[in-house]
Amino acid sequence: MKVPFLDLKAHHAPLRGEIMAAMNEVIEANAFAGGPAVTRFEEDFARYCGADFCVGVGNGTDSLWFSLLALGIGAGDEVITVPMTFMATVEAITFAGARPVFVDIEPKTCTMDVAAIAAAITPRTKAIMPVHLFGHCADLDPILEIARQKNLHVIEDAAQAPGALYKGRKAGSFGRAGSFSFYPGKNLGAWGEAGAVVTSDPAVRDRVRMLRDHGQAQKYHHDIVGWNGRMDGLQGAVLGVKLKYLDQGNRQRRRHALRYEELLRDVGGVILPTEAEPGRTNHHLYAVRVKQRDVVMKKMAEQRIGCGIHYPVPVHLQKAYASLGHHRGDFPVSEACADTFLSLPMYPELTDVQIETVASALKACLPNRAGVPV
Ligand SMILES: *Cc1c(COP(=O)(O)O)cnc(C)c1O
Repeated sequence: MKVPFLDLKAHHAPLRGEIMAAMNEVIEANAFAGGPAVTRFEEDFARYCGADFCVGVGNGTDSLWFSLLALGIGAGDEVITVPMTFMATVEAITFAGARPVFVDIEPKTCTMDVAAIAAAITPRTKAIMPVHLFGHCADLDPILEIARQKNLHVIEDAAQAPGALYKGRKAGSFGRAGSFSFYPGKNLGAWGEAGAVVTSDPAVRDRVRMLRDHGQAQKYHHDIVGWNGRMDGLQGAVLGVKLKYLDQGNRQRRRHALRYEELLRDVGGVILPTEAEPGRTNHHLYAVRVKQRDVVMKKMAEQRIGCGIHYPVPVHLQKAYASLGHHRGDFPVSEACADTFLSLPMYPELTDVQIETVASALKACLPNRAGVPV
């Protein structure tokens, strides 16, 4: 049986009529760049996240970059983040003019190792940017406490985490800014590119609104140097509809994760993802860890099961960041994860039979059931 890694067609099929109607309204109103559909979505998404404001932007990379710029972070500043993330987290720091400073992840949740933060702080440090990897919230309380003591900003990279909870509150609502991506494959995906900054600070909201629109508060009067980072009206319409189904999709993902766990729990040679407290992840990705990952992935592909690797090379070892001078061994947990992570199919419409197929294929593919990768 074929099991795709992601099946957006199945996800969109039942919503298609509703989304098309919402898009039609945008077309009728000629409101393509920003406009009422975006404003409506911003209000709905801020409320969803439990924050006061949301500013829709072009994509999740814009939202990270604008968050940094809105907080005045730039040349000469340092921002602490993790190397086990998507490249965009670190690119945004670089494009703001600041220097990324890495701390490793801890192996249980694969998010920022809070014990490593203190040693990374220098007089130039301006912000900490935790990443809610695979939709699992980083340990925000100690991060916020360190930030409070050292007078640093916290910007959450919540691109993968809409709907994930930390102690009952939604991801993205903890830092001065929470950054979201609505890339099509994310839990809340647009029909194209989109992103958003969530904040409860009116100054951050105003600044991001100006940055996304060429620095203007009033048309053709530019108070600061900004950029073109507006959200498309059509994407606002799509997201407005899809937001209503986000919790349902996250619940379905949770059920699938529990099923994977039941089926794979007692299998040697595979480490399953863990959740630090119930609800803390939205199960954006279900990444297990296996030895000889590339061999396993190839065998899975031969059985027509789509898997992914998120991410095969940690950012500190990317060629683009050779100038930072890092070497293998600098962040051993991130490196071990990069070598062993294997993302199994995960999307709301997965069926029980598909999950069972994936689990038994994985069992059959494992090279050596004894010995777990560490
Ligand atoms: C997807 C993603 C981004 C970037 O979002 P885009 O919308 O693709 O620009 C940033 N950080 C993380 C962790 C992501 O997963």
